[in-house]
Amino acid sequence: MSLLIILIILWAAWNLFQDAISLALDAVPKHIDIEEVRGFLLSQPGVERIHDLHIWALSTSQVALTAHLIMSQGHDQEFILNLQNAFRQKFKINHTTFQIEDRDMEEGCETNCE
Ligand SMILES: [Zn+2]
Repeated sequence: MSLLIILIILWAAWNLFQDAISLALDAVPKHIDIEEVRGFLLSQPGVERIHDLHIWALSTSQVALTAHLIMSQGHDQEFILNLQNAFRQKFKINHTTFQIEDRDMEEGCETNCE
């Protein structure tokens, strides 16, 4: 009985330790596939290209994302709200920041932002 409790505590401590290490290294949280996120953003209507995609953990339970989206045709008001909701539900990312750019802005940005 007590051995089982020790094993559970060790397992929980190990998970917490791994989360803490990845937090310290500013890594993409392990439950998130950055290529899947990239594909999802590129599949959004009006999104031509993306750059400066960053995903990192704010804490062991909070995740943040920033991305620059090239949308030459502009976007409507609901676009960002829909995207925020999609990220909450699909990827469990609660803190999202999107910068919308057109082609002219992209040229100046890409070299400076990457
Ligand atoms: Zn940019």
